[in-house]
Amino acid sequence: MNKILVTRSSMPELDEYINEIKEIWDTHWMTNMGPKHMQLQEALRSFMGVENVELFTNGHMAIELTLQAMNLRGEVITTPFTFASTTHAIVRNGLEPVFCDIDPVTFTMDTGKLEGLITERTCAILPVHVYGNVCNIEEIDGIARKYGLRVIYDACHTFGETYKGTGVGCFGDASCFSFHATKVFNTIEGGAVSFHDKRLGDALYDLKNFGIHGPEEVSAVGANAKMNEFCAAMGLCNLRHLQDEISKRKAVAERYRSHLAGVEGLQLNVVQPEVTSNYAYFPVVFNEQLFGSDRDHAYDALAEHDIHARKYFYPLTSTYSAFHGKYNALETPVALQVSKRVLTLPMYADLALEDVDRICEIVLSSRK
Ligand SMILES: *Cc1c(COP(=O)(O)O)cnc(C)c1O
Repeated sequence: MNKILVTRSSMPELDEYINEIKEIWDTHWMTNMGPKHMQLQEALRSFMGVENVELFTNGHMAIELTLQAMNLRGEVITTPFTFASTTHAIVRNGLEPVFCDIDPVTFTMDTGKLEGLITERTCAILPVHVYGNVCNIEEIDGIARKYGLRVIYDACHTFGETYKGTGVGCFGDASCFSFHATKVFNTIEGGAVSFHDKRLGDALYDLKNFGIHGPEEVSAVGANAKMNEFCAAMGLCNLRHLQDEISKRKAVAERYRSHLAGVEGLQLNVVQPEVTSNYAYFPVVFNEQLFGSDRDHAYDALAEHDIHARKYFYPLTSTYSAFHGKYNALETPVALQVSKRVLTLPMYADLALEDVDRICEIVLSSRK
């Protein structure tokens, strides 16, 4: 049997990519906001239905430099049920993460617990649209406005989605996306920020290009986080196939549901009727008492068949050894429970439906 990983990067036909990068051999313009970069930026702005987009080398630098561009001080309220990047972006800016618990159904920030965490030192909220589930945007917006806080969404899981008919990148002050090879849409490595305020765009541009404004003019102390032309070209190719990619993922998700929906002790991801899903992940939360077996058991059973699911997100970022026990995971009990029980099953456009059948069979027979 073939090895199955949790994801498999989408790539265009080789000829399509070669065709896309041919011009680079004519111009020798490989990076520094060349024509591919500008073309992808414009294509994404239009596709995402947002006012402004800045491209980056990766999703992490998009988040980290957005926080820096806002010139924040103090505490940032976020969730620990996320990828390392979200929390690291806060800490690497000299800001203090304050961990809010998550909602047990959407796995996004539990806005009922948000207001109680606000102090006079709070400067921003950094919620995560987990697995493509969109946060409680109205509540977060209302609370942010009431207290004068900035809102930066970690939208790395939600590329291509709309919420109530509006592009998911339109909410908050800024939304950060990842185009890493493992994401629904990839530029090999890459990222983007969508935002409203043009002045934020100027600051982001400075930060991604050393603050250089002319051959003899450097007006800000920026870093280097520019997307290069080869990555932008990959994005232009992959963007053409995105809808097809998402419909194939949808078929995989439906096949999973046909086997696993209604099984006692298995919680499948919520369907948010106001969201057009990108089917980024297929998480399953195991309730050991009801299902008769736990997450780790299913994980091991799959691994024995060379099928590699992921405990994503486990552990919580707040418990990383990097933070030396500074944060208490018991303060986010739902996040802690979910992280111990969740398994994301293999999910990608070219996953064969017969393989989905086999994966479900193994999961179901992992019960003692
Ligand atoms: C992938 C991801 C990131 C970081 O993106 P990179 O492009 O890998 O730097 C940040 N947050 C979340 C939730 C992600 O899934």
